[in-house]
Amino acid sequence: MTSSSPSDTAPRALLGVLALQGDFAEHIAALEACGARAVEVRTLAQLHAVEGLIIPGGESTTIARLLIAFDLMEPLRQRIREGLPVWGTCAGAIMLASEVTNLDRPPIAAMDITVERNAFGRQIDSFEADLEIRGLDEPFHAVFIRAPVIIRAGAGVEVLSRLPDGRIVAAREGRLLATAFHPELTADRRMHALFVRMVQESAPVPAERR
Ligand code: GLN
Repeated sequence: MTSSSPSDTAPRALLGVLALQGDFAEHIAALEACGARAVEVRTLAQLHAVEGLIIPGGESTTIARLLIAFDLMEPLRQRIREGLPVWGTCAGAIMLASEVTNLDRPPIAAMDITVERNAFGRQIDSFEADLEIRGLDEPFHAVFIRAPVIIRAGAGVEVLSRLPDGRIVAAREGRLLATAFHPELTADRRMHALFVRMVQESAPVPAERR
């Protein structure tokens, strides 16, 4: 463990990106571009070390299977119950949902939302849209790839963004954030910066890490 210089008065939180499958490397790079410290999470020790976690896009069936195979599913649920901030993008948002259509095994089921997988069908495999997102001043150029939508948001869930047709594509419930699109695939770092702030606001860095 390294000690920081006396001028380093604002210790940076350690963020993790679940690195079992999917585009975790892009999230690590995006977090680092925001000035955060970021590590890949594949083990229980890594899961316990981080103060915030991103679950990346990829394939939710595979991520769900690997979470169980790596013995991380229950520990992750436990950490979320204890207040770990988690942001799920695309397949990661599917993993966070309490209910999912067409998922062949249980999700983490932490957020009071229902998600429909592959909601745009085969004809529209991927598309891009400029979204108004609550908390951001300017529209966000969002990339959707075989994306889900949130078809139900519980009473405690704040809807952050909708497509022009009204479908929900970003939502927050306390320390949990879900986006149907992939902010790690564009150069705009505002969503990552927003999540880093969420982590900093919720998790004081332990004294021994300062
Ligand atoms: N369609 C994928 C799934 O259901 C998600 C796609 C993505 O993460 N880009 O898991």
